[in-house]
Amino acid sequence: MTTPGSAAHPWRIAIIGAGPAGFYAAEHFFKQTDLHVHVDLYDRLPTPFGLVRAGVAPDHEKIKNVTRVFDRTASHENFRFFGNVEYGSDIALDDLRQHYHQVCFTTGAQVDRTLGIPGEELERSHSATEFVAWYNGHPDYRDLQFDLSQESVAIIGVGNVAIDVARILCKTVDELKSTDIADHALDALSESRIKEVILMGRRGPAQAAFTLKEIKEMAELEDATAVTLDHEMELDPHSQAHLEENPDRSTSKKLDVLNEMIGGTNPDASRTCSIRFLVSPTELIDDGSGAVGGMRVVRNRLEPSETRLSARATDETFEWPVGLVFRSVGYRGVALPGLPFNDSWGIVHNSAGRITDGNNSTLPGCYVAGWIKRGPTGVIGTNKPDAVETVECMLEDLAAGLHFNPTSDEIPQFIRDRQPDFFSYEDWQKLDQLETSRGEASGRPRVKVTRVQEMIAAVKG
Ligand code: NAP
Repeated sequence: MTTPGSAAHPWRIAIIGAGPAGFYAAEHFFKQTDLHVHVDLYDRLPTPFGLVRAGVAPDHEKIKNVTRVFDRTASHENFRFFGNVEYGSDIALDDLRQHYHQVCFTTGAQVDRTLGIPGEELERSHSATEFVAWYNGHPDYRDLQFDLSQESVAIIGVGNVAIDVARILCKTVDELKSTDIADHALDALSESRIKEVILMGRRGPAQAAFTLKEIKEMAELEDATAVTLDHEMELDPHSQAHLEENPDRSTSKKLDVLNEMIGGTNPDASRTCSIRFLVSPTELIDDGSGAVGGMRVVRNRLEPSETRLSARATDETFEWPVGLVFRSVGYRGVALPGLPFNDSWGIVHNSAGRITDGNNSTLPGCYVAGWIKRGPTGVIGTNKPDAVETVECMLEDLAAGLHFNPTSDEIPQFIRDRQPDFFSYEDWQKLDQLETSRGEASGRPRVKVTRVQEMIAAVKG
């Protein structure tokens, strides 16, 4: 059998998930100029770009410029987008096997990790991932309700997602209204009565996961003061020794910024963002109506463990009267039908992107890239080398004859039969134009359409 990749027998690839990892994988396929490659990129939403659209904070407009690179990839003559087509319901692995030589899954990490503490299931206890998807207008989350009439909010975790949520809660409507935040979120946030946002780090300031730029922004809010406490900023001997042995400019600078926050950055502000360290929630307390009315908290100390300094609970406990809680302790991937899943890591079993059965035996033709491959780490650009690594494996396997042997190339018809309302890239571009022109009228980058049916009606009439 001839190796696919000639003009007569193009190499046909399906990528499932149109976020950064999916686009970076497509880009690398098109760099193989000695091969004829056809790439079909699928997404369960009509809109592409994954977390660039539904995860990046609305006030981080510049980060979203990466979509111009994705647009360039999409302009390749052998690229097709099939939006509004869901793997697992509209199409199955067997369908892909019949139409493609190889499939790469880039579905990301869509759900949050839980804490496993009592009261986590109470009303007014949410995951940050849901809140982020809500304010970014993700159709699956746009109808959620968050009780912003509460005065005090706790966010558990001190990663960049936690900082994004804190910043959005602390910004004024004036600061938000020039962004592409979803209209329903802007309306709800304009009624917010939140006065205090508490970010909770279980370890110390030297171990905080947020990055320098993100923490600096907390000191620049128009009407909120960012506060740290001097006794929590004092480094314990383990952290001090670790920093001396492993000097790290970025951590030192973050510590400088956090130290400048002792006493507050903006004393006249009407909102406070307290950035707390060495504290963990142990229970969310029911206010008697099934909703969060408070939080039991324990003070931690740091102890060296095998790989890092870990938080250990002390006997010191306290109770905070918070009425709304967001846990922001990391994302996890969702298992994909027909593929082996590592439940403890929340990723598909793989070796450098080749899907395995968990015991180093590979599933020929099936690959992963991005967060579903390595877990939810790094910035958008981290997905580029990650996707390149996977595509290189796919190239090697193609040359070795390890691929599916598709029996049909009638893909658009097959998709139309399964999902008549699929979105092509041209459909998305029409929606994009509509959103941006609506935005122009009100001085915003775009006004998002947040329901799938409205997207279909707007584009297909
Ligand atoms: P993350 O960076 O991994 O941070 C997770 C936080 O949760 C850490 O502070 C972690 O503390 C804490 N945590 C985990 N388990 C906990 C527990 N049981 N109790 C209390 N705290 C716990 O995750 P993320 O914030 O979800 O971000 C995901 C990725 O997206 C990151 O790479 C992030 O940089 C990136 N991102 C970037 C941007 C941006 O560039 N602006 C924006 C958003 C997200 P420990 O350190 O103690 O484990």
